[in-house]
Amino acid sequence: MKSLKELTRPNIWALKPYSSARDEYSGKEASIFLDANENPYNTPNNRYPDPLQRELKALIAPAKGVRTEQLFLGNGSDEAIDLIYRCFTCPGQDNVVAIEPTYGMYQVCADINDVEYRPVELDEQFQLSADRLLAACDNHTKVLWICSPNNPTGNNMDRQEILRLLQEFPGLVVVDEAYSDFSTQPPFRLELDEHPNLIVLNTFSKAWGCAAIRLGMAFAAPEIIGILNKVKYPYNVNRLTQEAAIEQMQKDYEVKRWVDSLLEERARVLQEFAALPVCRHIFPTDANFFLVRVTDAHRIYHYLVDAGIIVRNRSHVTLCKDCLRITVGTRPENDALLDALRNYSQQ
Ligand code: PMP
Repeated sequence: MKSLKELTRPNIWALKPYSSARDEYSGKEASIFLDANENPYNTPNNRYPDPLQRELKALIAPAKGVRTEQLFLGNGSDEAIDLIYRCFTCPGQDNVVAIEPTYGMYQVCADINDVEYRPVELDEQFQLSADRLLAACDNHTKVLWICSPNNPTGNNMDRQEILRLLQEFPGLVVVDEAYSDFSTQPPFRLELDEHPNLIVLNTFSKAWGCAAIRLGMAFAAPEIIGILNKVKYPYNVNRLTQEAAIEQMQKDYEVKRWVDSLLEERARVLQEFAALPVCRHIFPTDANFFLVRVTDAHRIYHYLVDAGIIVRNRSHVTLCKDCLRITVGTRPENDALLDALRNYSQQ
């Protein structure tokens, strides 16, 4: 791995971050706060939230098997994706390499940051090749984007190939594990200590059922987390979000129940979907959604919209011709989808 200084945008390496009133004060004894130009009325919304979300991190870190200094919290994992560009790539100079197809924000954030995005197609089984990804890299490649289980394909990326990338790529390897709670594979965040160039992304938006509160996580070596923290907005995770997440962490048994029932539903829906005349091929999935090649994705998509059922049409995405991406819902929701598609076939 190159040194972190070599990988970091030089102005960011040199950056002296904004120091907020709440950064400078930490401690529980004080009761009179005249340091942040807040309004003393309208408790508790009158006070700025903890910029480093210490109480929440103290709950998340042990639950995720990491240390608090290996944890960054942001406004969705989308914030972490954008920050990785802003911290570790130079606009108009550096590039990143990513699997294709994958989650669209890696490219959107590259474009926003004027960083060249180099997609490398997966094979027909939607599997990645470390050799092909490494062949697309040059001296200006700072980041490799891997998503596992991958969106929109649903499958896990080959573990051995990811390990090779972690060993052989001299820049940062991001493994986005947004859907790993639905997968049987061990998550990479448990191997942070072995891989100084690894950044793992997680989110409260999927298994944790909290997409509305906007809370994402990045796990990495403390030095990498320190750089992300330097660049983030001082109060990037608001108090309402921190409170809602703390509440959800205290009910983590719910998450386990949701995941178990979604996995059960997933197995049932896949089986029933395979028997539908519209179904050509269901791709293997380790996530809470599946990608399916159908007879005519465009027509079926619009037919479902007319029936009030929204799925994701991925037909225009590389390797996904005539494919729909379908999220596993509740049993009645899934039944409504299956019923609608049975009727479609009879038309
Ligand atoms: N990564 C992947 C792979 C995703 O599919 C998504 C959301 N669709 C995200 C990250 C973004 O998650 P968040 O809601 O935490 O911004």
